[in-house]
Amino acid sequence: MGIPFIDLKAQYQRVEEAVKKGIDGVLDHGAYVMGPEITELEDQLADFSDVKHAVGCASGTDALIMALMAFEVGPGDAVFTTPFTFMATAESIALLGATPVFVDIDPVTFNIDPDDLRRKVRYVKNERKDLTPKGVIAVDLFGQPADYDRIEPLAHNNGLFLIVDAAQSFGATYKGKPVCSLGDVACTSFFPAKPLGCYGDGGMVFAQNDELHKLLVSIRVHGMGEDKYENVRLGINGRLDSMQAAVLLAKFAIFADEIEKRQQAADRYAELLSDVPDLVVPKVAEGNTSVWAQYSLLANDSAHREELMTKLRENDIPSVIYYPKPLHQQKAFADLNYSKGDFPVCDSVADRIFSLPMHPYLEEEDQKTIAKVLKG
Ligand SMILES: *Cc1c(COP(=O)(O)O)cnc(C)c1O
Repeated sequence: MGIPFIDLKAQYQRVEEAVKKGIDGVLDHGAYVMGPEITELEDQLADFSDVKHAVGCASGTDALIMALMAFEVGPGDAVFTTPFTFMATAESIALLGATPVFVDIDPVTFNIDPDDLRRKVRYVKNERKDLTPKGVIAVDLFGQPADYDRIEPLAHNNGLFLIVDAAQSFGATYKGKPVCSLGDVACTSFFPAKPLGCYGDGGMVFAQNDELHKLLVSIRVHGMGEDKYENVRLGINGRLDSMQAAVLLAKFAIFADEIEKRQQAADRYAELLSDVPDLVVPKVAEGNTSVWAQYSLLANDSAHREELMTKLRENDIPSVIYYPKPLHQQKAFADLNYSKGDFPVCDSVADRIFSLPMHPYLEEEDQKTIAKVLKG
């Protein structure tokens, strides 16, 4: 059998009993939506993230939409974010009628570049009278936190909110702090392929502020007031299922151990790949940790990448490009009038990046095979 890109089967063997027990519990009590598993999960993950409030929701996308709705983002608002991310980050902004303003990325971490963020905020303030700068969504790409010590003051000094898109980084730390305790609000996803995944869709929003928490709880269920048939604002159906929460509770019990195993796998890759010529291995900024949602390498150029990925394919080793087409080049955002080359670092990285198999159950032998193929 070939090497899986993400091995959810090996994980299932470990948690099978607990998962089945959790699902049986839901079937027994019958509260399929907003059952007791939701608050239990919210309490555990808030505690783990060292943050006061957690609000479970239906997906990482809904988490972002709920956060933006809590900040009353709408038409005429500019929200600054990276074009080198999954569609949902910028889509959530545009769905609310606001305008995503893209910012180039750092060449090492692939996260939003604080210097370019400063330039883009100034540009909107001075030259885009049609837009009101409203907030920033920073993304912790591939599991590594963005540069929050620079981004947060930049946002707050300009009167902007900061949302942390931690869909790929739940469990990572920035200078010792859990990523979901950062920013005004942090959002994560429990899509199966994320570091902490359920068996369907799920997400969570985190906030320190009591007022924001109340808003998020209301927005999650159609803008409800004191009871669910009183609607005091517009909201969505953003609830998390009890069964997915039960799955997450079972998986969360082994999550800290899995984070360690991911780090060990990343360390082994770094060592095994250190002497492959013309290949850049990922680097985590000093003082931070990554949860290695992806292990992403940079080739010299797109031809070199194609050559390496072909070698892997010929040896039955999967590799994936995250992301081949940055958001500013996507048709869905054509009305923003960006073109290839507008974000030189992002465009160059998109032409050169590819990701290797990465999960907690990756065996050293398989990593040696992968390294050998890349060297050969
Ligand atoms: C996966 C992901 C999302 C969206 O999460 P879903 O649960 O799939 O809706 C948002 N942002 C980033 C960076 C992601 O990787």
